[in-house]
Amino acid sequence: MGALLFKIGKVMACPYRKEIKNKRYVPNNENKGVAPEPIDERQRLVGVGCGKCAVCKRKEVASWRVRLQMELEYNKRKVHFVTMTLNDEAYMELIGRDLVRVCRKYKRQLSI
Ligand SMILES: [Zn+2]
Repeated sequence: MGALLFKIGKVMACPYRKEIKNKRYVPNNENKGVAPEPIDERQRLVGVGCGKCAVCKRKEVASWRVRLQMELEYNKRKVHFVTMTLNDEAYMELIGRDLVRVCRKYKRQLSI
């Protein structure tokens, strides 16, 4: 990957960033087909990262780190963070089931 990484302030920006239409200013069912006019025409487009490059992955990790730290601070009781990797069979078994029940089941099996 030969893309140059560049910075905006202290935050790295996705080198594959693209602009998409800002949904706020697009006619839809919510605004009954009459989209509001933006104050500035530049607001019609918003920049989004690709979600696949190293910069986007790093941002995702940082975002999860903040969420988990907040959860730890908020929930003073014992907190467990579990990452599960499922094979196709187990994944298919989960589809359509109540995830809260499934998590409770695994929690019991792991004695946590
Ligand atoms: Zn990216």
